[in-house]
Amino acid sequence: MIEILVIFCLSVWIRTITEPKGYKWGKYVLLAVALWIFGEIIGVFVGSVAVFIYSLRSGYVYLFALAGALIGGIVSVIIAKGLRPKEIVNKSVQEIINTEKSKENVCPICGYVYMQSDRFCRKCGSKL
Ligand SMILES: [Zn+2]
Repeated sequence: MIEILVIFCLSVWIRTITEPKGYKWGKYVLLAVALWIFGEIIGVFVGSVAVFIYSLRSGYVYLFALAGALIGGIVSVIIAKGLRPKEIVNKSVQEIINTEKSKENVCPICGYVYMQSDRFCRKCGSKL
């Protein structure tokens, strides 16, 4: 029951991180839940091996499972936090387009992009 609550809180947290950045938060919530469960399974596996090797009480498996799940949750938060806001991504694409444009021949008077062969601007008629 507590685990469902923690997963719910994790989901809300993931949403508050990813949504303002312009990402589809549902995908990252699913990823978070998947990483949580994956971490838990790994934890059970590692815990079982540890219990077997070190003859620990079987209750330790639960601790390992919990630790694995928490690591999975933390990884999902790190992934979400590492996402670049989409606006910035789009902005840098725009910057690349702008630099590509500046490499072309642009009329200094009107900004018209002229052909290499043109001697006069086709828009304003100024000498190039
Ligand atoms: Zn011109």
